[in-house]
Order: sequence, then C-alpha cells, then structure tokens
Amino acid sequence: MSPNLGKELREIRKEAEQQGWTVIRGKRYWKLRCPCEEKHKKSMSPTPSNPNYVKNLLGELRRATCWKG
Ligand SMILES: [Zn+2]
Repeated sequence: MSPNLGKELREIRKEAEQQGWTVIRGKRYWKLRCPCEEKHKKSMSPTPSNPNYVKNLLGELRRATCWKG
C-alpha cells in the first residue's frame, strides 16, 4: 500500500467526521456510519490492495449515501 493511499483514506475519514458521520475502528475495517435516518454505512479497509480503492469508495459513497462532495 502506498503512503499516499493511507493519507487519502485518512482524509476520507476526516471528511466523514466533518459531515457528521460516525467513524469507528473495527477489528479489520473502519466503519463509517451516516447520521441520516436511513443509516447509510460503509466499511473501509485499512490496507486496500486495489489501487483504485479510494476512487471506488468515493464513487459508492456518492451514489449510495448522503455523502457530499
Ligand atoms: Zn445517509
């Protein structure tokens, strides 16, 4: 995993918290929970092997949750 990828993942978690999401470190994954009534959630791998992981994750957040930006 590139150092850059770790940084990008940290930034997504920070952004999530700023949007009111709950960010929890689970045993194997980070858990992101949306504050809305539908309770959207997303898990984030701390060590993804896919180089497109961040792009895919953000795409899913934008498509399927209340993610802004
Ligand atoms: Zn939501």
